[in-house]
Amino acid sequence: MNLTFHGAAGGQVTGSAYLIETETARVLVDCGLFQGGRPADLLNKAPGGRTAANFDAVVLTHGHLDHTGRLPLLGRAGFTGPIHTTPATVEMAGLILRDAAKVQLQDGERKNRKRQRAGLAPEPPLFESADVERILRQFRPVPYHQPVPVASGIEVTFLEAGHMLGSACLQVRVREGTREQCLVFSGDLGPRGAPILKDAETFHDADAVILESTYGDRDHRPFRETVDEFVEILRRATSEGGRMIVPTFAVGRAQTLTLLLAWVFRKRLVKPFPVFLDSPMAIEAWKIYQRHHELFDEDMLAFLSEGSLQKDLATLRMASTADESKRINDVEGPCLIMAGAGMCNAGRILHHLKAGLWKPNTHVIIVGFQAAGSLGRRLVDGESRVKIHGEVIAVKGTVHTLGGFSAHAGQTDLLAWFSPLAAARPKVFLTHGEDGPRRALAAQLTQRHRLKPVLPGLGETHSL
Ligand SMILES: [Zn+2]
Repeated sequence: MNLTFHGAAGGQVTGSAYLIETETARVLVDCGLFQGGRPADLLNKAPGGRTAANFDAVVLTHGHLDHTGRLPLLGRAGFTGPIHTTPATVEMAGLILRDAAKVQLQDGERKNRKRQRAGLAPEPPLFESADVERILRQFRPVPYHQPVPVASGIEVTFLEAGHMLGSACLQVRVREGTREQCLVFSGDLGPRGAPILKDAETFHDADAVILESTYGDRDHRPFRETVDEFVEILRRATSEGGRMIVPTFAVGRAQTLTLLLAWVFRKRLVKPFPVFLDSPMAIEAWKIYQRHHELFDEDMLAFLSEGSLQKDLATLRMASTADESKRINDVEGPCLIMAGAGMCNAGRILHHLKAGLWKPNTHVIIVGFQAAGSLGRRLVDGESRVKIHGEVIAVKGTVHTLGGFSAHAGQTDLLAWFSPLAAARPKVFLTHGEDGPRRALAAQLTQRHRLKPVLPGLGETHSL
């Protein structure tokens, strides 16, 4: 059997795509988009090139764009086979891919206006809504824990990964003649003890493990401490009558924060204030969360059964349209606004920052990763003036950075997840991490288990 790393390898964190090939079958695990400007754009081709049309099936670990975003390209390359994943991921991937097609179109139009002014020919978007709709018809929901044959001699089982709604680790059994091998793909792993979702399930046997290493070199601040910090900020901002602006990724973080606010209000830790979910995509994701309570952990289910979420969130307002979003400006007194984009490089959050940053009682709460060069990063770095829509805005408000809401396991949790597998002495491939974190995690695995993990390069094939 051959395993080829078509993404999330060679120090790349995005573009997850791993191809399993035997004499009789070809199955792709994930088909993610490379993200991060021009260099990433150049890598975005259908994994496997011309052979893509001949894949038997695709299996998805979860809905995030860096795990699903090249599926429309696979469709264009002629792939017509099934895409197996959990029922919640079918919904999440639909939401995320449809949004990605819209973003492609808008970005493309802006870039092409620039190209036109420079006398260059227009460039088509990477994919369009029609490509997304076509590929979504190939999705097949598979329940957790139920082994499903996906190609000749290949059977896959989905287990909880605790990373986002519907996320899964995969157990892949590959039979070639009389020989059977077991591959375990971690997918993206959530931190242990994080709220809402169940923790990642563990495995006890594997011939090969493909392990993510996003935070292979560090641990996050514990969730509990981050919640205390969050509540302190809410208290301070409400006593000052200030606005809280939370740039947030639409899927995952926004839902965690909404449920956290419900808990804060129910426990009367802070007097309820208006909360705005100012993102059509976050609103849709919230509805998907409400349809999948079976994926919640015991604490979350107990929380839901002990009181009325509707009552807790009586002050929650959803702003779908641009007009509803603009009207938030007229709200007086303390309020909290969640809007995208998560790194403040586009979207409705820019209007709220422009309207609020120059006021001393504004509190910007950063809850997610901010890439170098983004407006979010400049705020985190404490710049006193920033430019928004071409206008210079003074930063007089307070910027808070909360590290403990991450959806990824830190080093300790990655090692704990792997530990039950160590006795089986599997071959380990570290993916989905920059080289620093990958090497740090590899060193830990060598020290603790005397294993020599492989750090595969992009496009590399390994035989098993
Ligand atoms: Zn992910």
